[in-house]
Formats: sequence, structure tokens, C-alpha cells
Amino acid sequence: MSRQRSVLALGRCLACLEFMLFPVWRGIGTSNGAGWTQGWGRCLRWDSESPNRGTRFLVFDYPVWLVLCRRGRARLREVCQRGRGAIRLPTDMLSIKLPQVFEIHQIPKVFREDSIISGYRHPCSSALDCVLSSFHLNNETVNIWTHFLPTWYFVWCFCALCSKMNFLNDSYTWPLLVYMLLICIYPFTSSCAHTFSTMSPESRHICYFFDYGALSLYSLGCAISYGYYVMPECWVNSWLHQHFVLIAIGNTLFCTSMSCYSRFVELQFPKRSKVLRTGAFVVPFIFDTVPLFYRVVLWLWGSCSQSDALSSHCYHLLFAFLTCFLFTAHLPERLAPGRFDYIGHSHQLFHVCAVVGTHFQMEGVIADMTTRRAWLQTHSVMPSFLGTIGALAVSLALNLGVIAIFSAPLLWKPGHASNQQHTSACESKEQ
Ligand SMILES: [Zn+2]
Repeated sequence: MSRQRSVLALGRCLACLEFMLFPVWRGIGTSNGAGWTQGWGRCLRWDSESPNRGTRFLVFDYPVWLVLCRRGRARLREVCQRGRGAIRLPTDMLSIKLPQVFEIHQIPKVFREDSIISGYRHPCSSALDCVLSSFHLNNETVNIWTHFLPTWYFVWCFCALCSKMNFLNDSYTWPLLVYMLLICIYPFTSSCAHTFSTMSPESRHICYFFDYGALSLYSLGCAISYGYYVMPECWVNSWLHQHFVLIAIGNTLFCTSMSCYSRFVELQFPKRSKVLRTGAFVVPFIFDTVPLFYRVVLWLWGSCSQSDALSSHCYHLLFAFLTCFLFTAHLPERLAPGRFDYIGHSHQLFHVCAVVGTHFQMEGVIADMTTRRAWLQTHSVMPSFLGTIGALAVSLALNLGVIAIFSAPLLWKPGHASNQQHTSACESKEQ
């Protein structure tokens, strides 16, 4: 009895479902109602044998029970095919394969990151795979987006400034022009480096050479803008002020060379590599920030008044120290290796802090530029083309030369050796 009840309940459910899904078919069934219904009766003979269940036949007066009738299965198949044709899904579109991710032991050492255990991309990805990987969660996805999106924020800020300032004819704005160009370029280069760093071991090194080059040029942008707008009043026209941009160009060469070199010793001497790379970025940062430190010290001693620009600069310094700390400490992933592989590891936080710091730095530079304009135009020399855009062009050419020198051994090594390494990298992934 309970079995019969269950079957009847199931029949009702299926009938309702069928009624909703195949109303047209129901119409067909209704037109030939007698024939279908007779079929039910024949097939559900056990129900008619029950004395109190005669009325239950009404329940089965639905074509869903065709499967139990003569030629019912064929009829059902035909209708299902019609239904499928009507609501066909774009299965080709849904069958796009997302790139696979790998564990740390499946990839060559050169691709491994400290305390990141999983989420690695294929070490020999194609350029298209690399681009697609930015839309699928792996341990680089957030790194890519945390510098790609801010690029457009800074481009938007730059466009807004272009509508307010006369960058073409007003030489006083040229240091800001150089600075704005470079804060748009460095996050974009970094985003590209993180995107395409898994095409091969060589491409990984070259991508990060460009990343380091863009960062060292950004340090030049900081030096040019600080040299013209942020310099303390008592240092204006001093020897340091006059040679500030020139020394900064030298710093970019030191920074790019040292950071690129650090990649060559990374596998053999990881600690030495880390010290070299950190030093490469800390030296230009300290040099650029010396005038700002001095202004902050003067403010703390009460020798100068608090201003909006100084507040922004202080926030920038706070985030700059946080950025440096995250870069060197590798926290939080060192405390719990594997827990922060995809979201929350130190490099992502480092990107976010760098971008937030740059935002405050931009605010501070713009505030100093506008509020100190009258004083600086009276007491200091106006920015020259050579000292701003010329310095950027010279530094860009020199840094590209440094990158070319470090890239040459990777690109021009004997073909078979390169292919061998490339193949072994791919093979080690497959294992
Ligand atoms: Zn990065």
C-alpha cells in the first residue's frame, strides 16, 4: 500500500512538472486523449486491482506516463528532441577550458614564491593563456588587478589635470607632467609583468626587468617633482637642489642594475638577492625623500606650519614604510604558508600600499605645487625642459640600455640550450 501511495505521489509530481514544461505536448496528448488514457489503464493494471483506488486513474491521465506505454518511449524521445531544439544552450561557449593551476612542487624553482604553495600558472603559458589567467583565480590574479585598475585611476587623475593645467606652455607644470606620466606607467608595467611572467623562465626575468625599470623611473619622477615643489625653503638653490635631478638619474641606473642583477643570484643566494633588491629600491627612496623628511622634522620642531600638503606627504611616508615592510617580511603568508596563496599574500598588500601611498604622494605634490607657486617662482629657477622631460628621456634611454644588457644573455644564449631549459621547465610541470 505504501508503495502504491509513493508511486501515486511521484506520479502527481511528474505530472505537474510535465504540465509546466511541456504544455504543447499535453495538448497533443489531449487531442488523442482516449488512446493515451487507454495506455495508462493497461500499464497500471496493479492500481485497478486495488478496490479503493479506482479514481486514481485520473492522476495518470497525463502523457508523462508514456514511458510505460507501447511506443511511449519513442514518443517521449521525439518530444524531448523537439524541446531540446527549442531551448538549445550555447554548449560550445560553455566548454571554454580555464587554465589549470599547479602546486609548488609541480613547477620549476625559478617560478616559486616564498610561502606560496598553490595557485601557480603553467610555466610555459602562451600570451593568450596569460591574458586569460587574469580572469581566473590563481596566485597572480590579484597582483595583476591591484596594479591594472589603479593605472586607470591615475590616468583619470592625469586627464583631469590636463584640463586644468597648461602642460604644453607652462614650464612650472613640467615636473608634475613627468611625475603623472610615471605614476601611470609603473603600475601598468607591473601589471603586464605579473600577467606575462609565466611564458618561460627567460620571459619571467625580462618582464620583471621592465617592472624594476619602471619603478626606478618612478623614483626619478618623485625626485623631479620633489626637487621643484617639495624642497624646503632653506635648501632652495643649494648644491643639493641644483644637482638633485642629476643624482636621481644616477640612482635610477643603480636601482635598475642592482635589481636586475639580484634576479641572477636569486636561486643560489636568495638572502643576498633579497638584500640587493631591497637596497636597490630603498636607496633612491631615501634620497628622494630627504627634502621631505627635513620638512617633517622642521614641522615637528615648530619651525614651519602644518599644511594640507604636509599631511598628505606624511600619509605617503606611512604607506611607503608599510610597503617596504611587506616587501621584505613576506607577511602574512610566512606565518601560515598556503593560507594566503590566492588572496591576502604580502605582494598583493604591497601593491595596494604602494598605490595608496602614491595617491597621497600625488595629493601632496599637487598641493605643494599650487600653494608654493608664487614663492618658488620668485626665489627659485623655473623648471627647464632638459631638467624635466629631457631628464626623463635620457633616463628612459639609459635604463632601457641596462635592461637590454641584462636581457641579452637570456635572449641570445645558444638556441638548443634555451630550448632545452624551456622544455625541461615544461616537463617538470607535467610531472
Ligand atoms: Zn608586483
